[in-house]
Amino acid sequence: MKAQLKDIISKSILTSGVGQLDDFSHSLNPYAGCTFACSYCYVRQLPISLYREEEWGTWVDIKSNAAELLRRDLLKARNKGPVTIFMASSTDPYQPLEHETKLTRSLLEVMLEVPPDFLHVQTRSPLVKRDIDLLKKFGDKVRVSMTIETDKEDIRKAFAPTAPPIPARLNALKEIREAGITTQASISPLLPCSREFPQKLRPIADRITIDDFWMGDGSGGKRTERLGIYEIYKETGMEKWYNPTAYKVVLNMMKKQIGNEVEVMLSKDGFTPVDPDRKPAIGENLTFF
Ligand code: SF4
Repeated sequence: MKAQLKDIISKSILTSGVGQLDDFSHSLNPYAGCTFACSYCYVRQLPISLYREEEWGTWVDIKSNAAELLRRDLLKARNKGPVTIFMASSTDPYQPLEHETKLTRSLLEVMLEVPPDFLHVQTRSPLVKRDIDLLKKFGDKVRVSMTIETDKEDIRKAFAPTAPPIPARLNALKEIREAGITTQASISPLLPCSREFPQKLRPIADRITIDDFWMGDGSGGKRTERLGIYEIYKETGMEKWYNPTAYKVVLNMMKKQIGNEVEVMLSKDGFTPVDPDRKPAIGENLTFF
């Protein structure tokens, strides 16, 4: 299906960090809407999607004045205190139309002129590789976090058939890390995965964070339940994975296999700006490992 694309003029572009993102001063979304259309996307249950006639995944509003607004908003925000940005919280900044619009790239250019104190880039798209030249210039003030919710392609196809293939995401993160940029693999939301998953992430991620529907959808799993995701678990014979304790098995596996080399975090702790004084990750001392 062809997506409905619309250029819009926004009034502001930086939004105060709230809820799961309250460790960031701001979130930044170059687009509204997302054509990756993941079945489990919690944004489907937010007003931005519920109050639209078109189905989530079939439309994108392009904030065409985003770069101009960002320059203005950044200058203002920097006068008020440290600026730490999460890009993006309710859309993928590197979804397919970014190939043509280069809107996210233009925002990186602005942020190099008026730098925030920290930028977290969250995507599941290998297109982020295109901007390695710019991302490198942020030095240790940037983290590229690739969503890799499973290492199994059949599972990815069942839950997010129009999102990029897992091997392409793994390769992109590898390339980004080889360019000297700090990387994170976000297993978020955790989907059924294999025992080889830790070894696939070990060489490509400085940090791994695990999140699931119950910890991360902002409603204790209720939004996800309303989306009927359990049906996909049943269809794939993976019912036992639809469980608020399943993350413990994967956390255990990650820590046991690669915990000495890669930092493994959990839920909100894995989505914070760099903080040298941070507390240990939740579960670091769990005894069932
Ligand atoms: S990529 Fe992110 S914002 Fe886009 S549909 Fe998937 S979960 Fe939602």
